[in-house]
Amino acid sequence: MPPVEEWDSFPFDGEMAPRALRPPVEREERRHGEGGVECRACQRPDDEYVWTTERWRLYPVGPTGLPLVLILEPREHFSSPADLPEELAAEQGVLLSRIERAINSIGDFGRVHVCRWGDGSEHLHWWFMARPARIPQLIGSFAAIWDDILPPVPEDVWRADVDAVVAALEE
Ligand SMILES: [Zn+2]
Repeated sequence: MPPVEEWDSFPFDGEMAPRALRPPVEREERRHGEGGVECRACQRPDDEYVWTTERWRLYPVGPTGLPLVLILEPREHFSSPADLPEELAAEQGVLLSRIERAINSIGDFGRVHVCRWGDGSEHLHWWFMARPARIPQLIGSFAAIWDDILPPVPEDVWRADVDAVVAALEE
């Protein structure tokens, strides 16, 4: 095992061993919605989002183990930040700041992780994952794993937090 096992933030205990790495496959797995074909993000109606603009939409994932997990997507189908026209890329930068600020304004979060992976779905999506403050085990990249381990936040608490973020964004 690598030293991650010694990290306080490592979510697991007990006997573990890394999986053997299999040889490379012939080609990359297809991602969901490639080329915008049958893309869930493209098809999803505005009312499933909590906040929308002319070019961007904010989707609430949850209730989740972490207090708040939100996803920002461009309305139009793009695969990655590298594909965005300059104007949209600039707007993306402004929104990443605004949304992080809005989330931080509503509660006692230790950090809002802003992440982009994009290996599952092609449609560009930015993750905002707020972790609770003062729980050192939840720091760092394992927060994304803890999100699946911790029991979900009660629905009414989660809904109120999402509404508060939207209110902060609209200020
Ligand atoms: Zn799409």
